[in-house]
Amino acid sequence: MRVRAAPGLVAALALLLAACASPPPPASKLPERCLDRLATYDMDFAPAPDFSSGGCTVRNAVKVSRFGRAKLSSPALMTCALAEKLSAFEGVFLQPAAERILHSPVAVIHHYGTYACRQRTGGTQMSEHAKANAIDIGIFELANGDKVSVTRHWNGAGDKSEFLKSIGQGACTQFKGVLGPDSDKAHYDHFHLDMGTWAFCRLKFTDPRKR
Ligand SMILES: [Zn+2]
Repeated sequence: MRVRAAPGLVAALALLLAACASPPPPASKLPERCLDRLATYDMDFAPAPDFSSGGCTVRNAVKVSRFGRAKLSSPALMTCALAEKLSAFEGVFLQPAAERILHSPVAVIHHYGTYACRQRTGGTQMSEHAKANAIDIGIFELANGDKVSVTRHWNGAGDKSEFLKSIGQGACTQFKGVLGPDSDKAHYDHFHLDMGTWAFCRLKFTDPRKR
C-alpha cells in the first residue's frame, strides 16, 4: 500500500531540506599574515626590522617579552613562525601542565637566547639560531617562586621531572625540531625548540607525530 504525504508535510520537508543544504555561515578567519595573527594573541611583542649580518639573515621577526601568563627572562628576537608556536605552546601545554602537576602557573620562562649567527652544534650547516628561528629554554619559574630546571630536573621521578617530560612531549607536537638533555652534551641544560625545515624530536620518548 502506498502512503501519500499531505501537501503541507511535503512543503515542510522541502523547506527543511533546503535549510540543510544551505551553506554554513562563514567561519571567523584568522588573518593570513603571521604578524597580523600575533596581534590577536595574548602576548607582548614588537615587529623587528629584517637584517643581514655576517652571513646570517633574519626576516619576519618580532621581539617578544611575554606569552600569556609567562614573561620571558629578557625580550627575545624570533621569527614570527616561532613566536606563533610558542604562544600556542604556552597556552595549550605549558600552563595546563604547570597547573596540573605543580599547582602553580609558570610566571617566567628563562631562556638562553634565540638569535646567534653560528653553525649547528657539531655540524657544518647553519643553526636555526642563525635565523632567529630557535629558542633555548633552561628554567621555568613558577608564580609561587619555585623553579624547574632542565639541568636538575629532567632526569628524576618527582613532580618537576614529570612536568618537564609532559611539556617536552607537548613540544614535540608543536615545534619542528626539539632537542634536550637526551640529545647530546650540548643540550644538557636546556630545551632547544625550532621551526626549521627538518622534523625531529630527540627526547627519550616516542615522537608523538610518528605514532
Ligand atoms: Zn638551540
